[in-house]
Amino acid sequence: MKSPLTFFLFISLVTFLDQSVCAEPQPKVPLQARKEWKFENEGIVFSNDFSGARLNDCSQIEKNIFKVTIEPENHPINRSPWYAFKISSAKKQSIQVRFNLTHPGIASKPKISLDGRQWQPLEKKLWTPADSEKKTPATALLEIGAAPLWVFAHQPVGLQDLDDWITEISKAPFTKISTIGKSMEGRSIRQLSIGNPNANNFIFIIGRQHPPEITGSVGLMGFVDTIAKDSDSSKKFRKDFQTIVIPVVNPDGVEHGHWRSTLGGVDSNRDFGPFTQVETRVVRDSLVSIAKLPKARVFLFLDFHSTSEDIFYTQRDEDRTFPVLFTQRWLKGIQNHFPDYAFKRDSGHNENLPTSKTWAYKTFGAAGITYEFGYGTSFDNVRKIATGAAEEMMKIMLEETSSR
Ligand SMILES: [Zn+2]
Repeated sequence: MKSPLTFFLFISLVTFLDQSVCAEPQPKVPLQARKEWKFENEGIVFSNDFSGARLNDCSQIEKNIFKVTIEPENHPINRSPWYAFKISSAKKQSIQVRFNLTHPGIASKPKISLDGRQWQPLEKKLWTPADSEKKTPATALLEIGAAPLWVFAHQPVGLQDLDDWITEISKAPFTKISTIGKSMEGRSIRQLSIGNPNANNFIFIIGRQHPPEITGSVGLMGFVDTIAKDSDSSKKFRKDFQTIVIPVVNPDGVEHGHWRSTLGGVDSNRDFGPFTQVETRVVRDSLVSIAKLPKARVFLFLDFHSTSEDIFYTQRDEDRTFPVLFTQRWLKGIQNHFPDYAFKRDSGHNENLPTSKTWAYKTFGAAGITYEFGYGTSFDNVRKIATGAAEEMMKIMLEETSSR
């Protein structure tokens, strides 16, 4: 260094470069404060102090009337509200809870539980939906007591449930679990491989980009359990195919009870293109590296979600896929398997948006499908349909490999 000034500039540049490369990404959405709201006179406690909770504020309007405020993590936001809180009371009593949503969306009738295992819908007569004309909020009449009453928008399948499922399925000798990366808040993004590790044919499955989309997780588990089960067709399929499953793409969003976003404040299913989020980059890097293995061939990409109905978002039949016309053949197989099952197909849905299915189709040349189960479809039905859908998928894929 010729002068102290040059030396100073050099050190400043090194420090700047170091910070810009190594700086940890910071959350772009405000984290919900986990706490209890205690109403001393009534002995009532509202809590959001648990994984997956969403309750932003709580206030007492009258003696037995409370207002809960539910605010999404981000805006603008998709109109798919999530709420989850617990209420206990020193004495048994009835209260009215009014739902105050700060952003557009409709609070659905809650599912309630006293232990987090047995769930039931709140009785219809105890629920009054919001009325936008009269400007009255949705209202629930709840019986509360010493055991906390869980009040959730949907029966939950949380991070622990999904972790337990992965642990259980990974006991099978033909499976392998790996951590492919970390979310912004440091949660493991886990990947499950099922089947012959030397097979060159691949199916990719991802899920839970959107935290409240629980029937999507139930469908994913039912589908994957079918591939892992001890049947002739599943065994044949596992011999020819490796199934790669990333069950939770957005673990931070699930933990923090988000409506939609990652902790980075982005809808990850609009980020398969920009790849601004660490979570989508982890998924991309893992799947692309597998697809680049010598002789690897990707046959299908499925992304499990929930919406108002059972629907498949697909490419159009004229969009060439490998295997040829897979989607048309598969949906026909599902309909034959369940003649009374009413589902829809929307070809070319959101095809200009950077969704996972469009990215997968363009990247791998295989069908990229968003598989949506209705929020209101029962877990039992979702499992049954997902099982049949997996059997029909395996049938087509085995036809493909046997004809080669
Ligand atoms: Zn979704």
